[in-house]
Amino acid sequence: MGKNKSYQFETEVIHKGYDSNQFQDSLNPPIFQTSTFTFATAERGEKRFSGEEEGFIYSRLGNPTVKVLEERMAALEDGEAALAFGSGMAAVSAVLVSLTKTGDHIVCSQGIYGCTFGLLQMMKEKYGITHDFSPMSTRDEIEKAIRPETVCIYVETPINPTMKLVDLELVCSVAKEKGIQVVVDNTFCSPYLQKPIPIGADIVIHSATKYIGGHGDVIAGIIVGKRAFIDEVRMTTQKDIGGIISPFDAWLLLRGLKTLAVRLDRHCSNASKLAEFLSEHPKIEKIYYPGDPNHEDYPIMEKQMTQPGGLISFTIKGSKEDAQRFMNRLELIKIAVSLGDAETLIQHPATMTHAVVPENERKKMGIEDHLLRLSVGLEAWEDIRDDLASALNGI
Ligand SMILES: *Cc1c(COP(=O)(O)O)cnc(C)c1O
Repeated sequence: MGKNKSYQFETEVIHKGYDSNQFQDSLNPPIFQTSTFTFATAERGEKRFSGEEEGFIYSRLGNPTVKVLEERMAALEDGEAALAFGSGMAAVSAVLVSLTKTGDHIVCSQGIYGCTFGLLQMMKEKYGITHDFSPMSTRDEIEKAIRPETVCIYVETPINPTMKLVDLELVCSVAKEKGIQVVVDNTFCSPYLQKPIPIGADIVIHSATKYIGGHGDVIAGIIVGKRAFIDEVRMTTQKDIGGIISPFDAWLLLRGLKTLAVRLDRHCSNASKLAEFLSEHPKIEKIYYPGDPNHEDYPIMEKQMTQPGGLISFTIKGSKEDAQRFMNRLELIKIAVSLGDAETLIQHPATMTHAVVPENERKKMGIEDHLLRLSVGLEAWEDIRDDLASALNGI
């Protein structure tokens, strides 16, 4: 890839951050499956540790395969630098621990990933770092949630599983006025559908387990942000807590990234056709899909996303038991949590991803007992439709 030339997203997912000249002309980045790196002399070891000489020391501090992944992800999110982790939660926890100290406060979007919720709960109970949730639908609502001790706004959009959207431009403008940082968990979109950093966000987090890996075969996480912050995390929370990614998993993500754009185009076009099918089906009560022009946040989708994504939630006409009976009748679609895989997956939030949320909180979030979430895969959309149709006809 030309050193100073800029290429489009579809090209960068394949080439960015890798120079084959540096790796014996290997077309693909080799897997550097090594724990440590040798120093030719004691003096060189001293220089590597002092930072006087560039080079690798020990794979918890950096690894050549992982470095290619980090440079590629930084470019794709339009950030200065990136850092890869052994899971999305290792990434989330490294960011939150780096940003906060006892007495600080975090403002969160009205829905956040279950384990992030658990982590914030623990930070409150053990370390006195508090948080509040805000619907963030108006400037006033965001401003009201911010206190003198607030250090960051933590946003997920779309919000799982009801697909409500948060207006990133609005959140970033309030945060800038107040001098606080914005962290966006961009897992549901990937940088192909939504880039929070050019809008004004400071830090982007990914569970790379989902669309980035894309094949349901790796657990990993990534953060992207300003170089000073990424370097600080690399040399503190990541180095000392240690949630690093393995070189092989980094290689799997590089392999997954190559097809990110083509995969997401298919995820999105399949989802759009299936959303239309579901919205017209007599046994479906309501669909939650940001590409639906009747969705309350459709204008936000048009403003900040390039496509509405591959997830559809819906309620069937019936009870929790009917929803479960429907799931059991599916043959092609697999019952599983996670998302962004080639396989279409369905899950029941009330008893699976959101089972730990108390029932009254679940109801407030719109998670009813007959709500289901579909992660639309890459199969022929007609086959997915036919599987849904025959399972619906049986309830
Ligand atoms: C899956 C997920 C996470 C956690 O990622 P892991 O890779 O499972 O640790 C965090 N945020 C969101 C939005 C997720 O979907």
